[in-house]
Amino acid sequence: MEIKNNIYLKEYTSYKTGGKALYFADCKSSKDVASALNFASDNKLNYEVIGGGSNLLISDDGYNGLIICTKSLNQYIINKGSGIIKCGAGIVLADLVLYACNHGLSGMEAMAGIPGSTGGACKMNAGAFNQEIKDTLLNVTYMNDDGSIKTIKNEEVGFAYRKSPALNGKIVLYAEFAYGKDKVETLLNKRREILDRRKEKQPLHKPSCGSVFKRPEGNYAGTLIEKCGLKGYSIGGAMVSTKHANFILNENNATSSDIYNLIQHVINEVHKQTGITLEPEVRMIGFNS
Ligand SMILES: Cc1cc2nc3c(=O)[nH]c(=O)nc-3n(C[C@H](O)[C@H](O)[C@H](O)COP(=O)(O)OP(=O)(O)OC[C@H]3O[C@@H](n4cnc5c(N)ncnc54)[C@H](O)[C@@H]3O)c2cc1C
Repeated sequence: MEIKNNIYLKEYTSYKTGGKALYFADCKSSKDVASALNFASDNKLNYEVIGGGSNLLISDDGYNGLIICTKSLNQYIINKGSGIIKCGAGIVLADLVLYACNHGLSGMEAMAGIPGSTGGACKMNAGAFNQEIKDTLLNVTYMNDDGSIKTIKNEEVGFAYRKSPALNGKIVLYAEFAYGKDKVETLLNKRREILDRRKEKQPLHKPSCGSVFKRPEGNYAGTLIEKCGLKGYSIGGAMVSTKHANFILNENNATSSDIYNLIQHVINEVHKQTGITLEPEVRMIGFNS
C-alpha cells in the first residue's frame, strides 16, 4: 500500500471541508492497517482513523500526521446463516441495512439513511428511530496500535449512547451481527418509511454531519437551539438549518472554521439562555481544543 502525501481531506468528509493530511493511508486489508500503524510508529507520527467521514469536522489547517482510512475495508458481506452476518468495517452501513432487509433479517431496518461505514457506526454506536448498532452487534474485531488483532463481544464494548469505550484507540477491521427474522416485504417497507421520514424532516440537500449535538438528558438539542432563536443563524458559509435546528449546514462554501465557530456560538447561546451545555456528537480532527 502506498502512503500518500498532502491529501485534501475535504474529499473524504460529508461536510466537504477541511485541509490536507500530511500522510494518508487508504487501507484495503488488515495488513495495510498494520503497515500504516508501523509507518506512524517508525516516523513518530500521530494518527487518526476515518471511515466514511460523515461525522467529522476536520480543521482547515489539516492534520499534521497520518490519516488511516478504513473505507476500503469493504470487500465482503458474508451471510453465515442462522441470522449472522460478518462484514468489513468499510462496508457502507446503508448497504448492510439493505442487504439484511433483502434477506429477511431484522434489527437494523430503522437505521436506513445513516451515512458512513459499518466501522464508523460501531465506533459511534450509531442509531436512529429506537435502533442502535449495539442492538444487533454480536462481536467486533479490531487492531491495537501494536498491530495485534482482538475480537470482543458486544457486552465487552461498554456501549452507551454514541459511546463505545472499549473501541477507543482501536481500529475496527470487521464485525459480526446477529439478526431476528421478518418478512422481506415488511422490512423493505419499514426501510422505505424511514427514508421518507428522514427526507421530510432533515435538510439533506446540503453537506452536513447530521445531528451536531448529542441529545441532552430529558431534552432535544434541536428543540433547545430552536427555542434560543438560532434557526437560520449563520457564520460565514455555515448555517443552522431552518428545517432541523440540530443540523449545521455547509450552506455556501463554508470553511471548517465557519462551522466550528457556529458550533461554539450555539453552545454558548444555548447555555446562556437555558443553562444547558450541549455536547457535540461530531468528532473533530486537527483542532486544538
Ligand atoms: C445526513 C446525515 C445524517 C445522519 N444521521 C445519523 C443518525 O440518524 N444517527 C447517527 O447515529 N448518526 C447519524 N449521522 C452521523 C454519522 O453518519 C454516523 O456517526 C456514522 O456512523 C459515522 O460513520 P463514518 O464511517 O462516516 O465515521 P467517520 O465520520 O469517518 O468517523 C466517526 C468516528 O468513528 C471513528 N472511526 C471511523 N471508522 C473507524 C474504524 N474503522 N475503526 C475505529 N474507529 C473508526 C473515527 O475515528 C471518528 O471518531 C448522520 C450524518 C449525516 C451526514
